[in-house]
Amino acid sequence: MKLPYAEPYKIKMVEPVKMSTREERERWIKEADYNLFNLSSDKVFIDLLTDSGTGAMSDRQWAEVMLGDESYAGSRSFEKLKNNVFELTGFDYFIPTHQGRAAENVLFSHLVKEGHIVPGNSHFDTTKGHIEFRKATALDCTIDEAFDTSIYHPFKGNVDLDKLRNAFEEHTPEKIPFVILTVTCNSAGGQPVSMENIRLVSEMCNRYGVPLYFDAARFAENAYFIKEREAGFEDKTIKEIVKQMFSYGDGMTMSAKKDGIVNMGGFIALNNEEVYTGCITFNIMYEGYITYGGMSGRDMGALAVGLMEATEYEYLKSRVHQIEYLGNRLVDFGIPVQQPFGGHAVYLDAHKFVPGIPVEEYRAQSVAIELYLEAGIRGVEIGTILADRDPETRNNRYPKLELVRLAIPRRTYTISHMEYIAVALKNIFDTRGEAISGYNIEWEAPIMRHFTVKLKKK
Ligand SMILES: *Cc1c(COP(=O)(O)O)cnc(C)c1O
Repeated sequence: MKLPYAEPYKIKMVEPVKMSTREERERWIKEADYNLFNLSSDKVFIDLLTDSGTGAMSDRQWAEVMLGDESYAGSRSFEKLKNNVFELTGFDYFIPTHQGRAAENVLFSHLVKEGHIVPGNSHFDTTKGHIEFRKATALDCTIDEAFDTSIYHPFKGNVDLDKLRNAFEEHTPEKIPFVILTVTCNSAGGQPVSMENIRLVSEMCNRYGVPLYFDAARFAENAYFIKEREAGFEDKTIKEIVKQMFSYGDGMTMSAKKDGIVNMGGFIALNNEEVYTGCITFNIMYEGYITYGGMSGRDMGALAVGLMEATEYEYLKSRVHQIEYLGNRLVDFGIPVQQPFGGHAVYLDAHKFVPGIPVEEYRAQSVAIELYLEAGIRGVEIGTILADRDPETRNNRYPKLELVRLAIPRRTYTISHMEYIAVALKNIFDTRGEAISGYNIEWEAPIMRHFTVKLKKK
C-alpha cells in the first residue's frame, strides 16, 4: 500500500484553542456587528483570517530568539540576516524594516513621484496604497485568465507582455520608475508567476531601461510552484530556483510575516548602491537605524533562520499539501472554489455558493458569517465590502469575483483541522438558500471600510 503523506515535523509546544456553542457565537457575532474583524481571538476556534504573521516558529528559530543581539548598531543578528538574504537572493544591499508595507514606504519614498506609472501584476493593497498616496498610478498588467475562476492556468500571476509593452510605449520610460512583480500574486489568489514570465518581463524592462523589483512576500511558495509546474525545474532545488528568480530583478521588498515565517518583520534588498543610499535616509526617518529598522535583534535572528526553512522543499510540500487537501475535500463536496488552489489559501466562490442572496446583500460576507456560526471558523470577505465605493459616485463597486478567503497559517493547524473546516462548509452548502441571509450596511468608514464596517442582518 502506498504510504499516505505526513508532515515533516512534530509538535513541541501547543496553544489551546477554545470551542464554543452556536448560541454563544450567535451572540458574539451580533455584538461584533457581523464584522469578523471585531471578534476577539478567544471567540474563534480556527482562525483563517490571514497567513500573515500567524505561522509557528521552529525550535531553531526560538533558539535564535535567545541568541538575539540587541546592540543598537551592528548587531550579530543583523549580520546573520543580511548574510542569509544575500545567500538566498544574491542582492548585495540590505535594509531591515518592521514589515512589508514599511519596506514599500521606504523604497517608494525614494523612487515614486507624482505622475509616475508603476506597472505590475495585480498590486497588493498596501503596494497600491503607497503608489496612489504619492499621486502615481498602479497599472495592472496581469493576464486575463487570472480573473476567471473556471479556467485552469498553471501561472495565473503572470504578466501579459502585450499589456506591459503598451505601458512602456504609451509612457516615456522616465515616467516609469520600475515594474513591480508580486510573487506569488496575492490579489489574484496566491497565484504563481512562471520563471519564463519573470525572464521575459526582465528582458523587456532591460530593453526600455526600467528596473524590475519583486514584491517577494511569498517568493518561496512561488519557487515551489515553478519546481512542480514548469518544465526544466523538476530537478532544481528551491534555493536554486529562488536564486534564479531574483537574478532577473534589481531588488525586492519583503513582508517577512509570510515566507519569513516570523510574526513581524520585513526588509528591502537591492543590487544598486545608489538606490540603497537613497533609501537609507528614509529608513532612518521612518523605521530605525539601518542595522535594525524596526526589528529587535532576536526577531532578525528568527527571520534569518525562517528564510532558510521556508526554502526547504519538504516544508513547502507540507504547506501546499495542506491547502490542496482542504481544496480537494471542498471539490469532493461540490463546493465552488477557485482553481488551481493558491499557495496560501483556498478561496470560495460566493456567487456560486449563495446565488439566492442578492449581490447588494454581500454574498461573501454572508458565507463568512455562516461559517463562523456553524463551526467557529474565521475567514475573510474578499468581495464587495472590501472593494468599497467608487470615490466619485460613492456607489458600491461590484468586483468580478466575490470570494471568501480561507488563509492557512504556516505549520499551525493539522489535517484534522482541514477536515473540520471542509465538513463545516459542506453542512452550510447543503442547506444554502434556506438558512443563510444577506446583510445591510449600518455604518461604514469613508475608506478601508471592511475593517470597521457595521452590518445588520436582513
Ligand atoms: C502582506 C503583503 C504586503 C504587506 O506586508 P505587511 O507585512 O502586511 O506590511 C505586501 N505585499 C504582499 C504581496 C503581501 O502579501
